[in-house]
Amino acid sequence: MTGSFQWMKTLNKSTILNTIRLHSPISRAEIAKKTKLTPPTVTNIVTELIKANLVRESKVGTSQGGRKPILLTINDQHSFIVGIDVGGHIVRAVVTDLNATIKAKCELELPKQLTNDLLLETITEAVGAVIEESKVGKEKVIGIGIGMHGIVDHMKGVAVFAPNFHLSDIPIKDTVEQHFQIPTFVENDVRALALGEAWFGNGQGIDSVICINIGVGIGAGIILNNELYHGQNGIAGEFGHMIVDINGKPCSCGSYGCLQTIAGGGVLRERALQSERNTMLLEKADHNPDALDGALIYQCAQEGDDFSMQLLAETGRAIGVGVTNVINLINPTRIIVGGGVAKAGDFVLGPLREVVKQRALTSEARETEIIQSKLGDDGTVIGAATLVLKDLFSPQVS
Ligand SMILES: [Zn+2]
Repeated sequence: MTGSFQWMKTLNKSTILNTIRLHSPISRAEIAKKTKLTPPTVTNIVTELIKANLVRESKVGTSQGGRKPILLTINDQHSFIVGIDVGGHIVRAVVTDLNATIKAKCELELPKQLTNDLLLETITEAVGAVIEESKVGKEKVIGIGIGMHGIVDHMKGVAVFAPNFHLSDIPIKDTVEQHFQIPTFVENDVRALALGEAWFGNGQGIDSVICINIGVGIGAGIILNNELYHGQNGIAGEFGHMIVDINGKPCSCGSYGCLQTIAGGGVLRERALQSERNTMLLEKADHNPDALDGALIYQCAQEGDDFSMQLLAETGRAIGVGVTNVINLINPTRIIVGGGVAKAGDFVLGPLREVVKQRALTSEARETEIIQSKLGDDGTVIGAATLVLKDLFSPQVS
């Protein structure tokens, strides 16, 4: 079908589409220059892309003598993508256009007693529901991207191990693809978030960026030379399991003294509950321990509660030690921090930056930029949609 995923992905089309995406609005002559394709090849393919309504002629550019060139842009509304974030309790689903702008959203709760089949059913249901909600029509959806916590085999699209659910070997890609007959991509949720930030958030235009997510658990996505780095078995970025205390406490992963055992949302809450200085927190939580979460600690810190500020600062310093190790190991241009705990902003980021300023190896390393995520709560779903865009716009022979 003209305009389908495979049709767009043929080598020269993909190259030209990607050049338009990156340099839009751009003339045919400029495309030929940048891609090193011959002008007639560019003209032919662009004609095809315009016929398929995927590329549009827009305003007229400035000429360097002679006729003014017509500039080209991508028609973002040509087709749509489903992005899915499989969270701890809910599945969030969005439909985006080709510029990752969200057109529709929906959320489904996960059953309490999860099995592989129930999880797959809920994901499939969420995809169907959000396509319905968006009213774009299933035939306009060219790809589905899914972000899933834990260890993910992104080549096979299998969730190898999902610790929060105690499930393993979940064939997400095959199941969703078979059900919808739409190309599907699966990635670890924080790696997807990193990709989203790199394409549409605070990582744009930067070659090497590390995106850290501090929620109940702690993870990271590493972008090196504009590519998501997976490592040999897909565990590159398991920042929360960096060992920071040789004699430390046991971790959920089976090891001891991982960063996750001293920082992260779970530990923050535990510390708040155990202390005798938690009067304001308990009052605000109506003495319900379940209501005492990162958001409440942040709220109390904003209202001047010293203890809450101290809790957030301790978390910031612990993460700062991990970030310093990462800077010394990888030396990225920028570090982006996202996730629930990161919402506490400078209460966490201030002490985090202080540690890096004191302890990273060189004066340049100490100045590594550390900023908050731009995409916020939508980061993972946008990142999941970006999995599809990344594949669509990467030139490769199919
Ligand atoms: Zn661990």
